[in-house]
Amino acid sequence: MSYLAVLQAHYRPAGDTGRADTTELAPAAAVYLPIVRKGESQKGQPPPKLLDAELSDEWIVHRARGVLNQDWLEQLDRTTKPGMRSAHFGFGINNNGSIRDANRSPVVTDAQMTALLEHCRTRLAELGGRIAAGDIAVSPYELNGQSPCDYCEFLSLCRFDPLSDNCRTLANYDKAEVLRRIT
Ligand code: SF4
Repeated sequence: MSYLAVLQAHYRPAGDTGRADTTELAPAAAVYLPIVRKGESQKGQPPPKLLDAELSDEWIVHRARGVLNQDWLEQLDRTTKPGMRSAHFGFGINNNGSIRDANRSPVVTDAQMTALLEHCRTRLAELGGRIAAGDIAVSPYELNGQSPCDYCEFLSLCRFDPLSDNCRTLANYDKAEVLRRIT
C-alpha cells in the first residue's frame, strides 16, 4: 500500500482541476525491486552462470514486484512476447496473449488500478481523520502469523507489548477477493 500511496499522491486523472498542474497522468505501475533475498540456505556451489540462473523461471528474486497496469505492459517491458515470462517484472504472457496465472499475477486492468488508487486515497483520508481526532492507538497488524513488531527496532520503547497485547489479525485475501471488495 505504501507504493500505491506514492503513486496516488502524483495521480492526476483527466478532469482533475484541483491542482496547479492539471496535466493528466496515467498510473502505469507501483513497483519495488527487492535487493535483499529472504534468508535462504544455498546447498552446493552457485550456478556457473549465476545471472542466467537468476533470470530463469525458477528464480524471481530480481524481478520488480508490485502492481502493474495491463495497458502499460508493453511500454514497461518490450522484450516479453506471448509465450514468455518477463525477466524484469513478475508477469508472463500466454501464447494467446492473455496474462499467465491471472489470479496470482500483479497485472490489473486500468479500471482496477484506478480503484486501487481510490481505495488507497480513502483509507489514507480515514487514517488522517482518526489521527486528527486524537485516535493515536498503537495497533499493529498481524498477517499469516507475522507482524511488523517482529522486526521493529523500537519494540523496547513501544507501548505495545506483543506478550500481553493483541495485534489486529488481517484476513489473507487472494487477488480476486481484494479486487471484488474494492470495485
Ligand atoms: S513495536 Fe510498536 S512501533 Fe514497532 S511496529 Fe510494533 S507497534 Fe509499531
